Amino acid sequence: MIVEVIPCLSDNYSYLIHEKESNTVSIIDPSEFYACEEIIKKYKKLDFILNTHHHSDHVDGNLMLKKKYGSKILAFGMEKDRIPGIDILLEENQTHKIGNLEFRVIFTPGHTKGHIAFFFMKEKIIFTGDTLFSLGCGRIFEGTHEEMFNSLNKIKNLPPETKVYCGHEYTKNNYEFCLEYDKDNTFLKKKKLFIDQKLRDKSPTIPTTIDDELKTNIFLRCDNESVKKNIGINNASDILTFKKLRDLKDSF
Ligand code: ZN
Ligand code: FE
Repeated sequence: MIVEVIPCLSDNYSYLIHEKESNTVSIIDPSEFYACEEIIKKYKKLDFILNTHHHSDHVDGNLMLKKKYGSKILAFGMEKDRIPGIDILLEENQTHKIGNLEFRVIFTPGHTKGHIAFFFMKEKIIFTGDTLFSLGCGRIFEGTHEEMFNSLNKIKNLPPETKVYCGHEYTKNNYEFCLEYDKDNTFLKKKKLFIDQKLRDKSPTIPTTIDDELKTNIFLRCDNESVKKNIGINNASDILTFKKLRDLKDSF
């Protein structure tokens, strides 16, 4: 499974997946037609389009790509009225094959009501859209803090070596926030050096891994006593800690 990162708009990532054996080409969250088209050209086909959620910066390429390549569009059934051109309606926890690749649908509401992530079990790769970012998480637009917290917990429990491909390049702003409230985290300081180098090279800071995120992403560290202390809510529950962190981040 080859994953090509396609930078789109100002800070979005679309991803092209190529599975060689069956020569199946798919795109996750095509933000815009032209940027995706530049990469698809090499393969001369696009079999599938997978959408994590309905926001325009994740679906705007759907219809033009479908028209040009006759691709099938896969997205969460609940969002059938909001995903342009949807063909195949997915359900929570269902597994589905694209060529020889199999993924599981992980329902991750919070950012939007019908957000999903695509987890390729055998390859240990997840596409998280706007749920989990490198060192951050999505804003809560349609769901509740509880929903987002639970969605992140589902992702947390995947194998630690799982590679994470998210919907945006927000990593620099995210580490600045993490550092503000998790200053003594040595993993985070190390991760910052790695990210700074990537950004200097004008390379994506993606993918990250579940293991890295568990150690460095403050939104996955709501059970950590020093994080609680640093945001001034000693002894608070993990979900309250998450709420407070999300509020702080919203105005960061
Ligand atoms: Zn979004
Ligand atoms: Fe987005």
